[in-house]
Amino acid sequence: MDNGFELRVSDRKGEGIFATRSFKTGGIVMVGIIEKILGENHSHASQIGENEYVFHAGLISKVNHSCNPNCGIRINETGAHDFEAIREIIVNEEITFDYAMRNYGVDYFPKQCMCGSEICRGRITGWKDLPDERKKIYKGFVAPYLLELDARYCSEQS
Ligand SMILES: [Zn+2]
Repeated sequence: MDNGFELRVSDRKGEGIFATRSFKTGGIVMVGIIEKILGENHSHASQIGENEYVFHAGLISKVNHSCNPNCGIRINETGAHDFEAIREIIVNEEITFDYAMRNYGVDYFPKQCMCGSEICRGRITGWKDLPDERKKIYKGFVAPYLLELDARYCSEQS
C-alpha cells in the first residue's frame, strides 16, 4: 500500500522519510499513532506535554529535523502528532519537521545540525531556544503545550 511516503537512506543524514507523491499545503502527510507512553525523555521520544513523552508508531519517528521544514505538527483526536504539509511537497522530497515544533528542550540530538538548509540555525534547538521570528512562522504548526509553557514562563518573569 502506498501511504505517500517511504523510508530511504540519504547520503548526508542516514535514514530519512521521503514523499512518494505530492502533497498540497495543509494536507496530512503522516498520521500519528501513539505506541507507548513513557515516564521520561528518550532519544526517539516525542514530547507531548511538559513532562509527557511518547513513542509514535511506524515511520513517524524516523522523520528528520530541518531548520526549514516542509511539515508541521497537528494534534489529532488521539493526542498523537500528525505531520501536516506547511508548503507544497513534491515527489521524492524528504519529509522534515523542526524538532522545536515538538520538543521544548532538546536533550538527545547532536548539537550540530546537518539539515543543509540556507537558514540552518547551526545546531538543533528546542522550542525554548527558538528565535521569536521563527516561532511566528511556525504558528499553528507546533505542539500546543509549547505555547502554554511560553505563556506560563513569560508571566512568571514579569
Ligand atoms: Zn539546520
